[in-house]
Amino acid sequence: MLRSLVALFALSLVCCATVFAQTSPAQTAPAETTPAQTSPAQTSPAQTTPAQTVPAQPAPAQTAPAPQLSTRDAAAQKASAAASSFDQVVDRAVEREHFFMAQMKQLHPLVETYLQNLKEDKDLNAPVPISDVYFLGRLDMSEGTDDRTFTSPTTAGLGKRMLSKLSNVYSMKFLPLGFAQMVVLDQDFQRRYYNFTFVRREFLGEIRCIAMDVAPKKDAGKGRFLGRIWIEDQDYNIVRFNGTYYPHPRASYYLHFDSWRQNLRPGVWLPSLIYSEESDLKYRIGQTLHYKAQTRLWGYNLKDLRRNSEFTEITVDAPQSVQDQSQKAQDATPIEAQRAWERQAEINVIDRLQQIGLIAPEGEIDKVLQTVVNNMMVTNNLDIQPEVKCRVLLTTPLESFTIGHTIVVSRGMIDVLPDEAALAMILTHELAHIVLGHHLNTKLAFNDRMFFPDERTFERMDFARDRSEEEAADKKAVELLNNSPYKDKLGNAGLFLKAVQARAPALKSLIRAHLGDSLLNGNATRMSSLMTASPQFDPKKADQVAALPLGGRVRVDPWNNQLELIKTKPVAITSAAEKMPFEVTPFFPFLTRLGTAGPEKAAPVPEKTAAAPTGR
Ligand SMILES: [Zn+2]
Repeated sequence: MLRSLVALFALSLVCCATVFAQTSPAQTAPAETTPAQTSPAQTSPAQTTPAQTVPAQPAPAQTAPAPQLSTRDAAAQKASAAASSFDQVVDRAVEREHFFMAQMKQLHPLVETYLQNLKEDKDLNAPVPISDVYFLGRLDMSEGTDDRTFTSPTTAGLGKRMLSKLSNVYSMKFLPLGFAQMVVLDQDFQRRYYNFTFVRREFLGEIRCIAMDVAPKKDAGKGRFLGRIWIEDQDYNIVRFNGTYYPHPRASYYLHFDSWRQNLRPGVWLPSLIYSEESDLKYRIGQTLHYKAQTRLWGYNLKDLRRNSEFTEITVDAPQSVQDQSQKAQDATPIEAQRAWERQAEINVIDRLQQIGLIAPEGEIDKVLQTVVNNMMVTNNLDIQPEVKCRVLLTTPLESFTIGHTIVVSRGMIDVLPDEAALAMILTHELAHIVLGHHLNTKLAFNDRMFFPDERTFERMDFARDRSEEEAADKKAVELLNNSPYKDKLGNAGLFLKAVQARAPALKSLIRAHLGDSLLNGNATRMSSLMTASPQFDPKKADQVAALPLGGRVRVDPWNNQLELIKTKPVAITSAAEKMPFEVTPFFPFLTRLGTAGPEKAAPVPEKTAAAPTGR
């Protein structure tokens, strides 16, 4: 499967943040999770024979015949009776896993891995990032391969050695496919290869699961799964697995991971979040691997994203409003034509980015961002036509940029901004570009220029500004902020910039723009004049929150890319080590089951709606 991960358009971004509600949410809990839910809500193990070892049997599972991604199968499952013994649970899970594998071959989500190498910080008494790596690609499992090792550069095969020679970058040690393959438990999951041991019943979110330990039998072959799996007890899908592959080949290693699937279509559970970590992996004499990484998958349903955007185009395409048709029945004036031309380029680009799954469809968070922009415009008496809009780039690296009158901010940026004023700072810099009339390159108004393959997007689209435009925008933005309701609240914004500056050497992949401008421009920090008035940056001060961990604010629906703000109660921070600014943390999604009604629009995977009761 490794090989099949097509196209690593590596990106790292640096950019801007998000608005959250009105009240500055300050320290949100790290990562999108309430760590709580794993509590061993063990409804008595009752029906399960805790009998561990299952006699090797010919696996019942034959690959389902090219299943469509439909709910039919789920319905069929539901109709069948509940498994009545541990053995049956195992059989059903194995069968479902083959169905899962067949489905995954038809799906091509985006896969993003962001990894931080760690080193113990004696003052903080906790590991801190010292370098980082970023991968983005599209998953393609249609051909399959079992190349899924983390390979030691010194001892790997010739091909690999060539690869690491090509780029002697440290990052080459982590093959992106090495992470992507963690969506798969075992490409040929068969009962006869494993011993299964019942652990307990346990809730993950509101999903009642059967947890069991899984260990490969002797001679089951290399690279089998070793660890724990959670099987939901309605259709017997594996919803989480945590462990590694075993045994590893000589001179290669398998990483440890915690892989989550979410119920994205009725009856269908698809990989969405993977956390991986090693704290003491000796991969070479004297070398130890110490890192943590988040892998996210989204954009499963790109077909609909495409359709969606065609509609958008029709709506927006008419350059002027419908009102004065009478006067409009003639050609556009030269100025109108120029504006329409620029607008067309803007629409083309946004559509394209949405179609390939990089920009989220319009939604709740855009409105939050727009509210902040409106605050700025109203208090500065700005009237900008066409209206300024905000959209969210779905990737992690921190960046923001402007396409015509659309301000784009990355998800990662929104996650880490400490408060609304900091968000206002990011948005206002972009608004300043618009106010100053900094133009979009209109070569993108030609529709044929949009037909490049995904992986070339980052070469073909470039919204970076030159130094003089950046400086002008900074200056204008400070002016605008000084007239705004955020005027007296910019201390944290300045502090955030200081944190960016302090962490930039270690987090180059995170603090780097792919499409737009970085928060750092050489030695210069964006909006640096805000830093002078801000408090001193002190990573050891527990109550100073300069930047948040990644993943705490924005929740992505991996099926349709829709976003929602995570509304968790702030968690009190007990030590400076818990602040984890810009850092990745483990995932702990609150799993829910989609209702069975209205399959085609059951879109957003609600984090905590009152969904179907998990008992039966
Ligand atoms: Zn800029």
